[in-house]
Amino acid sequence: MLYKLNWIFTQSEETWAQLLHAKFHTTSDERIQYHKRSSVWSGIKHTDDITKPSTEWIIGKGTKIDLWRDSWASNIPLREHIDLPRHLWKKCTARVSDFINVDGWNFPADISLAFLAMGIDINNIPCNPSVEDIQTWKPDVHCDFSVKNAFECTRKCLDIAWWWRYTWRKCLHPSLSGLAWRLMNQILPTDEKVQRKGIPITSVCVHCGSNAETEDHIFFECPTTKVMWVWVTNAFQLAAISGMDGWKNTLEKCRMHSSYLNDLWITMVFAIC
Ligand SMILES: [Zn+2]
Repeated sequence: MLYKLNWIFTQSEETWAQLLHAKFHTTSDERIQYHKRSSVWSGIKHTDDITKPSTEWIIGKGTKIDLWRDSWASNIPLREHIDLPRHLWKKCTARVSDFINVDGWNFPADISLAFLAMGIDINNIPCNPSVEDIQTWKPDVHCDFSVKNAFECTRKCLDIAWWWRYTWRKCLHPSLSGLAWRLMNQILPTDEKVQRKGIPITSVCVHCGSNAETEDHIFFECPTTKVMWVWVTNAFQLAAISGMDGWKNTLEKCRMHSSYLNDLWITMVFAIC
């Protein structure tokens, strides 16, 4: 939502945005360098790093665009191309509209040459003096800002785990999917895991009563589990399963079979657990 606030702020159309702009900018449109209390300004500033590089201008009359501080000619503001002392920037208050006439761009030849030195060919930038400037959101195909789109730009995408296509299958009952998800994330609260957290409990397998309850034991080595593995592997005519196979190999045992048998196998693997 802070990105949305930042976006509305940069449009400068809402009264609150104009008020904040006036409060936190100098008369030369520089941001103030001292502290003023505000419950929202720090949040808006914080999101600048994402919204500014994602913003583009469709240039019309140029009245809304700051020549030096907005990114209208390249991906970064012109100001960042030029090293000037701060007090001189206070005098730089030009708008893009100052260099547009009814026919289009109206830059003096020396400024056009300076742009070329920065790698900007001004004649390649479209400009329509008969319409208003429009600010667009680059990451969206329709150039419209949305919170969802901003979230997609900012979230860190982790690699997809190999097991997700096994744990969230339609053939699995949701409760079995939940168990499978906890199993794959290794967060099932076995006695072994509880002990590792420093909780002194006596660990005994509830099925055989003769071994400690570790994941390896209850899922593969316990005599009760072994009986079930033997039964299902015989039913599917597969080689015997052991803890050495690991979950990936075990779940993939039937991938060459039909999707029906594959679903049945994966359901049985998780049901045994
Ligand atoms: Zn056991």
